[in-house]
Amino acid sequence: MITESDCCGNGCTNCILDTKPLQEEDDNRPNALSIYRKYNIVKILDLKPNITKYTFQLTENCDNLSLRIPPGHHIMMRSTELLIRPYSPFSVTTADFEFEILVNDCPNGEMTKYIKGLNLGDSVEFRGPVGKYQHKVNRNVVIFTHGVAIASVFRIVTSILENQEDDSRIYFNACFQDLEHILFRNEIHSWNQFWNFDGLIYLSKGGQDFKDKLKYKEAVLNRRLLEEDIERTILKVKAIGDFEVVLSGSKGFENFIVNSIGNSVDKDQINVL
Ligand SMILES: Cc1cc2nc3c(=O)[nH]c(=O)nc-3n(C[C@H](O)[C@H](O)[C@H](O)COP(=O)(O)OP(=O)(O)OC[C@H]3O[C@@H](n4cnc5c(N)ncnc54)[C@H](O)[C@@H]3O)c2cc1C
Repeated sequence: MITESDCCGNGCTNCILDTKPLQEEDDNRPNALSIYRKYNIVKILDLKPNITKYTFQLTENCDNLSLRIPPGHHIMMRSTELLIRPYSPFSVTTADFEFEILVNDCPNGEMTKYIKGLNLGDSVEFRGPVGKYQHKVNRNVVIFTHGVAIASVFRIVTSILENQEDDSRIYFNACFQDLEHILFRNEIHSWNQFWNFDGLIYLSKGGQDFKDKLKYKEAVLNRRLLEEDIERTILKVKAIGDFEVVLSGSKGFENFIVNSIGNSVDKDQINVL
């Protein structure tokens, strides 16, 4: 049962207290994440000076369980001191009971300190999944994200691109500080080969001279994402049919996007992850 103590207290848009248990679909084994269980750290990789990738695998016997985390949902990590924070798996391997998350170092952050003290083979408790997002096949999607929050939208993109039955177009806008801080750069570049993916990366620092550092046809803009970019994207997607907006980022980023969109999009078309 979910109780008040399962809430991390950060005022997440999708709080664990509002989450209904997932439908069992064709797999009637209980979701391993439906209660706190321990997951071993099987891989740790420093991706950037402040961002580390962790691979977790369920430690206990999993014959009667399955691992289900829908795209756009997050899971709750609980420390030994019972601190709780949400994280967004960007990769889930159901058959191996594995998932991967990116962790951004928050200077002096409580959970950051706990995670930094973990080593390969250590186990950590997770529970979930938490979220309401559900993509409708053949509905176009406009995505706005920044920094490590790209992890939340990563599986939304791959699940659409990998589904032959889904002709949704994706208008993807990701913001990072500079070229060196771009996450999933190769993936975004390769997604741009798909007919239905239109991805742009905005670099907030600007002023970098990087033309010779870009890949062939890499869509990187050396400036911040502006209100007029958002308006233009919305006008473009509106003109071609049914669509939804997906936002993943800090409260400040979310407010900027929502204010820029204004009244041009119905509130129920906007999904905040
Ligand atoms: C839906 C969702 C998904 C998320 N997914 C991810 C993810 O995939 N990866 C990821 O890295 N993060 C993710 N986060 C953020 C994550 O949950 C944590 O908030 C983050 O790791 C920081 O936690 P912390 O305990 O280390 O920091 P906290 O202790 O909560 O502190 C946060 C910041 O506030 C500052 N601070 C704390 N107390 C004070 C104070 N008294 N005065 C001034 N400043 C203070 C700290 O220095 C720190 O920089 C997600 C958040 C949400 C809502």
